[in-house]
Amino acid sequence: MPTEQTIAIQFKGQKSKVDKPATMLVRNFTEKEQKIRAIKTLLKFWGIALLCVLIPVAHFILVPLFFIMGIMKAVKLLHKAEDGLHAEGDCPACEQHIQLNLDNNAELPQWMDCPECSEGIELHH
Ligand SMILES: [Zn+2]
Repeated sequence: MPTEQTIAIQFKGQKSKVDKPATMLVRNFTEKEQKIRAIKTLLKFWGIALLCVLIPVAHFILVPLFFIMGIMKAVKLLHKAEDGLHAEGDCPACEQHIQLNLDNNAELPQWMDCPECSEGIELHH
């Protein structure tokens, strides 16, 4: 099972340049889980490619497209050991407690807007 972990990060306001302590929740995958995820994704895309064989004319484009996309997505997942779930902390500009959805992106730094005051926030270590 993937494990979830809270790590300490900082919110930095784009204008104020003030750092505020925050937390980020990430989900970690073991090597085996990474492989399973990659294979599942590969099979899903190849399944779509197979269905596209039935579409006249367009299948000349769609079949190789989904075939290649499946490989690309699977390779990407193989190298991805963690998903960013969300970040939480006080906004450096308006000081409201905010929660940001990270869309599975665990890379730092990343930039988001405060949902309360739309100040640009840099999430960093
Ligand atoms: Zn704010």
